[in-house]
Amino acid sequence: MPELPEVETTRRDIEPHALGQRIVALEVYEPRLRWPVPASLPARVAGQRITGTERRAKYLLIRLTSGTLLLHLGMSGSLRVLSADTPRIAHDQFDLKLDSGQTLRFNDPRRFGSLHFTLDPARHRLLKHLAPEPFEAAFDTDYLYRVTRGRRIAVKLLLMNSRLVVGVGNIYASEALFRAGILPKRQARTLSRAEVGRLVRAVRVVLAQAIRVGGTTLRDFVRPNGSPGHFRQKLYVYERAGEPCRVCRTVIRQVTQQGRSTYYCPSCQK
Ligand SMILES: [Zn+2]
Repeated sequence: MPELPEVETTRRDIEPHALGQRIVALEVYEPRLRWPVPASLPARVAGQRITGTERRAKYLLIRLTSGTLLLHLGMSGSLRVLSADTPRIAHDQFDLKLDSGQTLRFNDPRRFGSLHFTLDPARHRLLKHLAPEPFEAAFDTDYLYRVTRGRRIAVKLLLMNSRLVVGVGNIYASEALFRAGILPKRQARTLSRAEVGRLVRAVRVVLAQAIRVGGTTLRDFVRPNGSPGHFRQKLYVYERAGEPCRVCRTVIRQVTQQGRSTYYCPSCQK
């Protein structure tokens, strides 16, 4: 599933192709995404110019002269930069055609992605209640220490709670906990201040490293130019159950937490 680094990679990859371009047409082939794409959307965006791209949590924001498109990649979505005459393949859901002759083509086999238009992204229902970004100053040791106090929830599940911090999904929660030396099942309230500080740094480092190499491709994710992300080769624990720890050679273990797989090293993590 695309997480924060994959969405940020998508944003960085499309921006040079999108910035300043006029939208010739939005052609929707399958409006039944996670939420239906409104029938009025193509008319709203046609003729508008793209003035910028941003990311908030796992939403890609495409700023237009008037209004903003909000794209979520869902479970299996990818946005490609293609020549507009490239033949469509299965699961291509829409084309955002640009006057350069290129198109931003969204492919999403599972259709958990979404496309919205809003005049005020900060107040949009999908964005207005989001917690701090991991790279924002608001996500610091003081903040995470405060939200872990009194909470019995496993620290990995707390990290993945988007009401506390956005964009830390299953892959990067496991990887950050490994780098911080903390067992995923530890109750959040048992973390010392020093451990919380290590965890904040580890979350930022692991996300920044993943962005630098274009995200993680496990199954579905492809970059807008069609290439995979290369963070998979740098994973310490995720999907490495039964393999030796890259640090201490202990066998990596897998457990299930709320239906999701968690991976850890029983020696490196306490
Ligand atoms: Zn280890």
